[in-house]
Amino acid sequence: MSATVPARRRALVEYLREIGVIDERVLSAMAAVPREAFVPQTFRHQAYDDYPLEIGEGQTISQPSVVARITELAEVGARDRVLEIGAGSGYQAAVLAQLARFVFTVERLPRLAEGARTRLAELGYRNVSVQVMDGTLGWRAQAPFDVIIVSAAAPAIPRALVEQLTEGGRLIIPIGELRRQELVRVVRRGESYEESRHGSATFVPLVGREGF
Ligand code: SAH
Repeated sequence: MSATVPARRRALVEYLREIGVIDERVLSAMAAVPREAFVPQTFRHQAYDDYPLEIGEGQTISQPSVVARITELAEVGARDRVLEIGAGSGYQAAVLAQLARFVFTVERLPRLAEGARTRLAELGYRNVSVQVMDGTLGWRAQAPFDVIIVSAAAPAIPRALVEQLTEGGRLIIPIGELRRQELVRVVRRGESYEESRHGSATFVPLVGREGF
């Protein structure tokens, strides 16, 4: 309980290893981002527990194991341009920013976007931009992306998103019903798409044209 923040963060990374996260780059990124800076003051003591936490406006910061799993599935390269849909607290974007060349993250709720932008700037992230918009249609002006991560649940894969992937680009998205989804990974191979499933997840709904 009284362990210091760095010790708790190291313990979280050990836990992630135990549950099967093997990509060392992802583990280093998780070790580098201060999750306590992304959760409301009242939950700071729980920042390194493996739970989603409320961040206001009915939204949540995803649990660390899910962030690690998604980031691992995305195979983010150092030269990659990444689009995240659903910035929320900005935590997933910070983890991605440790690994990528640039991260565009979009959020439909202005108050959350503002909070994420301030936090990321205070922590010194210069390779992330936070934009207020409906991300269900992607971001055509900035496309294509090597990685697209949807941090909210969708009923189906939005066509506009797969069309904004580079050749070999990866889309990671929770697909399913409101209360339970499956993590789906889509890889673009020329004009076709390779789809695989990676276990269950529970996300807040994607709201908008291609959402719920
Ligand atoms: N990645 C976040 C978790 C965010 S929860 C983090 O690390 O904290 C999902 C977020 O998606 C919510 O903040 C919600 O407002 C946002 N969202 C839902 N539908 C959206 C849409 N169509 N476009 C952009 N953001 C959306």
